[in-house]
Amino acid sequence: MKLVFLGPPGAGKGTQAAVVSQALGIPHISTGDMFRKAMREGTPTGLKAKAYIDQGKLVPDSVTIEMVKERLSEEDCKNGYLLDGFPRSLYQAEALAGFSQPDAVVNIAVADEKLIARLSGRRFCPKCNGTFHVSRLADEKICPDCGAELVQRADDNPATIANRLSVYHEQTSPLTAYYAQKGLLKEVDGDRPMGQVSADILKALAVEV
Ligand code: ADP
Ligand code: ZN
Repeated sequence: MKLVFLGPPGAGKGTQAAVVSQALGIPHISTGDMFRKAMREGTPTGLKAKAYIDQGKLVPDSVTIEMVKERLSEEDCKNGYLLDGFPRSLYQAEALAGFSQPDAVVNIAVADEKLIARLSGRRFCPKCNGTFHVSRLADEKICPDCGAELVQRADDNPATIANRLSVYHEQTSPLTAYYAQKGLLKEVDGDRPMGQVSADILKALAVEV
């Protein structure tokens, strides 16, 4: 199955994508994770992306589209994939249509007020890639899964969060209508416990668990 996950920053796309890709046995392809890895490794893509990501802007299409196209051409994507964070604009959606057609698009909806609270309290484990909210951590600094030291993503600061939300509303949110018109859209309420959101997504995709 070829899947696209849509939703505002902080909707829980990454968390849900990890669960669903595992349940379906398809690779989870997160453009945000790919850029963060490229930045850590100092690759040309990472160097180009950094200034945009730090400001909460979209990385230029010339960089992003090529990166996704290459990734989807790899062997492990033969039987499907779950794209998380791409497409993020109508232009990117049209580009994707030129090299791969999704079978379904899941939109995880959450109101802005909730997103700001979620993003500003978000912590990340650089060792096991886990994401946690401070309200659910016994110790704000320690990963409950592997014990490594948690960090805050550089783009989870108030100014950058505000930019990311406005970019989402201007450029990404029109994609729900775009995919609804193609008959591909599945709407899921993301403002519910994590396990219920996963169950709703699998149900919407008509996957037995
Ligand atoms: P979030 O969904 O929480 O904003 P991501 O990890 O998906 O976070 O993305 C982080 C940043 O990476 C974005 O703010 C943007 O700068 C960049 N990025 C990710 N995906 C894309 C994309 N498809 N096009 C352009 N930039 C992207
Ligand atoms: Zn960890």
